[in-house]
Amino acid sequence: MPGFELFGEEEKKQVNEVMETGILMRYGFDGPRKGVWKSKELEQALCDQFGCRYAQLTSSGTSALTTAMAALGIGYGDEVIMPSFTFVASFEAVLSVGAVPVLVDIDETLTLSPIAVRAAITDKTKCVMPVHMCGSMADLDALQQICKEHNLTLLEDACQSIGASYKGKMVGTIGAAGTFSFDFVKTMTCGEGGVVMTNDKDIYTKCDGYTDHGHDHLGGADRGADQHPFLGYNYRISELHAAIGLAQVKKVGKVLEIQKKNHSQLKEILSQLAEVSFRVIPDPEGDSCTFLSWFLPTEEITRAVVAELKAQNILAGNFYWYDNNWHYIRKWDHLKNAVALHRLSDPQKDALLALEKKTFAPSDAIMSRCISTAIGLLWTEEQLKQKGEKMVEVVKGVLNKMKATA
Ligand SMILES: *Cc1c(COP(=O)(O)O)cnc(C)c1O
Repeated sequence: MPGFELFGEEEKKQVNEVMETGILMRYGFDGPRKGVWKSKELEQALCDQFGCRYAQLTSSGTSALTTAMAALGIGYGDEVIMPSFTFVASFEAVLSVGAVPVLVDIDETLTLSPIAVRAAITDKTKCVMPVHMCGSMADLDALQQICKEHNLTLLEDACQSIGASYKGKMVGTIGAAGTFSFDFVKTMTCGEGGVVMTNDKDIYTKCDGYTDHGHDHLGGADRGADQHPFLGYNYRISELHAAIGLAQVKKVGKVLEIQKKNHSQLKEILSQLAEVSFRVIPDPEGDSCTFLSWFLPTEEITRAVVAELKAQNILAGNFYWYDNNWHYIRKWDHLKNAVALHRLSDPQKDALLALEKKTFAPSDAIMSRCISTAIGLLWTEEQLKQKGEKMVEVVKGVLNKMKATA
């Protein structure tokens, strides 16, 4: 799954080209940089690869989300509807612009349930933020329809689904804006980095300024001549990180090809088991196949299978998100207790403390039975087969034991 598995001479060459000039900053130093503009080049490559008009690189996927929300005018007291299963960055970004994260249930797509979204809309709702988890995608037709009916903004957190598509369009390019993360474990990496993609020039221009202290970048070669039409931050990417990304973006096609092949073979092996079912994928053609996510009939069986995978030392690469404190609401005590270092606003604090009492039974019923297997890029046919067959043996063993004691 992670692009770093395919690191090679290409990444080194790109980084060395930056080191030859010594200019590590993406703006300015027009003379000494001798025509090397890695960040600009990567932004163009991302537009070409993923089919969007504008791309603004950032220092991380988290800052990309924050930047997108600022550019979309989301702020104090606004409610952003997001799923209970995601990465902590999604609510961190909402909180960072002063808005209120409203967490709702997922369905068997492992992404936002459109029914839960409808039920959560209030007069403060401003944005719906699907998170395309584990390489696949949310039901974007249904979510777009809801946004249209209620005049809401659709912001796609596509950080985990680089290269996935929905009905022919790349995820991350379908909403008003979308983000990718290029952190170390993503489908393509810069080491650290992210991007906001949009087809709207005004949103792009705002992202461009926001990530660089509000600079309008109209001062030519003299940064001191730039104006500051609005407040910003420093969420810039460095030229070294962008250089890695340039080598990696050229490998995305290959990564997807390997993932699709390995995913389909592993799925075939697990399909032998009548008790195993698979995640619902709104557009199966568009799955980037970074993970194979599968369900067992009950939480009890799933826990026993996870324990046995661990006992046999083959849990690595198999994720039981239900017990994981990065990805699922159940273990986000810091969020539910509103533990922040700075003072939260009253609407934020009230909403977070209310999460302690909110139940997520539909999400629990799905996540407690779900295991996601990360798809390796370097697996040999033999390794893949062995891995799949060991997993099948573990599940069979657990099922037999449970039948025997029932
Ligand atoms: C990785 C990730 C992010 C944040 O990316 P960073 O680059 O690590 O800040 C946001 N959302 C999701 C769903 C992610 O998986």
